[in-house]
Amino acid sequence: MIKVRNLKKQFGNVLVLNDINLDIEKGEVVAIIGPSGSGKSTLLRCLNLLEEPNGGTIEINDVKLDTLNYKSRDAYQLRQQTAMVFQHYNLFKNKTALQNVIEALIVSKKMKKENAIQIGEELLKRVGLEKQAKQYPITLSGGQQQRVSIARALAVKPHAILFDEPTSALDPELVNEVLQVIRQLADQDTTMVIVTHEMQFAKEVADKVIFMADGKIIEQGTPEQVIDHSENPRTQRFLRQLV
Ligand code: ADP
Ligand code: MG
Repeated sequence: MIKVRNLKKQFGNVLVLNDINLDIEKGEVVAIIGPSGSGKSTLLRCLNLLEEPNGGTIEINDVKLDTLNYKSRDAYQLRQQTAMVFQHYNLFKNKTALQNVIEALIVSKKMKKENAIQIGEELLKRVGLEKQAKQYPITLSGGQQQRVSIARALAVKPHAILFDEPTSALDPELVNEVLQVIRQLADQDTTMVIVTHEMQFAKEVADKVIFMADGKIIEQGTPEQVIDHSENPRTQRFLRQLV
C-alpha cells in the first residue's frame, strides 16, 4: 500500500531524511517513535508532499511518484491517497465542527451539501460528537477538537491516515478519548501511520514499530521486538529516557 524508496529531505544543507525505505501493508498500523528532531514529522509531511522531498520514490496505492521528476497531476493524485491529523488539530476556527468535517467534501470533492452533511453527521457520531456538530472549535475541549480533526480526515476516504503526535498537545485526562477513537479505527483495519510518544499505546495498536534517529530508520519490527526487546543501543537509550 505504501512503498517508499531512498527518500531524502534536506533543509538548507542539513540532511533531515537520509535514505528512508518503508513498506506498509494495507490495514497495517505503524507507529513511528524516536527522539525530537529525528525527522518523524518531516517523513509524514513528505508522504503527502506537504514538504518537497529531495530524492527518492513514493508509491501509495498504485500512485507512484519520482520525487525529483513528477507532474502536478501526479502530486495531486498522491495527496488524495492520505489524510493527515496534526498535533494542534488545525481546525478552521470560524467553522463549526460539522463544517470543518465537510469542507473538503464540498470544496474539493464538489459533493452536494445535503450529501456532505449526512456523511459529516455520521462521522461525528463515529467519533462520539454528534451533539457537538454545531459548536465552534473554541467551545470544544482539545480532545473533542482532535476527534473532529480525525472525522475530517476520514471524510475524504483516504487510503491511509497519517497522525503526527495526535495526543501530545492534550491534557493527560483527554488523551484516552482520542486514543480510543484511533483504537476503533485500528480494529476496522484502517491503514495508519502514527508518530507517537505513547509507548503503551504503540504496543497495543501497532503491527509494526519504526524507531527513527538522525533522519534514519534505525530499527523496525513488532512492538515486542522494538519496544520490549531491542538489542540496538540507540533504541535502548531512547526508551530509557522516556521513563
Ligand atoms: P521530529 O518530528 O522527529 O521531532 P522534524 O521532522 O520536525 O523532527 O525535524 C527534523 C529536523 O528538521 C530538525 O532538526 C528540525 O529542526 C528540522 N526542520 C524541520 N522543519 C524544518 C523547516 N521547515 N526548516 C528548517 N529545518 C526544519
Ligand atoms: Mg515532530
